Amino acid sequence: MKQENCVFCKIINKELPCYKVYEDDLVLAFLSIGPASLGHTLVIPKEHYENIFDIEEEALKRIAEVSKKIAIQMKNNLEDVYGITIFQSNGRTAEQEVMHYHMHVIPRRESDNFRINSCLKSIKLEDNQFKSILDKIRL
Ligand SMILES: [Zn+2]
Repeated sequence: MKQENCVFCKIINKELPCYKVYEDDLVLAFLSIGPASLGHTLVIPKEHYENIFDIEEEALKRIAEVSKKIAIQMKNNLEDVYGITIFQSNGRTAEQEVMHYHMHVIPRRESDNFRINSCLKSIKLEDNQFKSILDKIRL
């Protein structure tokens, strides 16, 4: 279902232009206009889902498949690209800015300033804290 004020729905409905990388019946991929690096691409479902909490499995699987194909294309064809970072955020606290599910596919170069690992090791936990978290989220 289209959302009136959603910028990504407007791109899907061709009310706004995009630099299209790929399109099929379920997903659209286009260059980010606020890129972290040259080639930064967003892969989105054509249906409006806000994020991981409401997206349907079929669209989610297709986004994963298309992200992989784009990552391979980038690695094979973009100059100086030897790695790809893929991520997506869910909710304002997670810094999701456009509230329409989107996967970031970001080509990485030795010279870029995108540093994920500096955020990954930011807290230290004790054994009881690991166990307490496990009690809450283990499936
Ligand atoms: Zn939307």
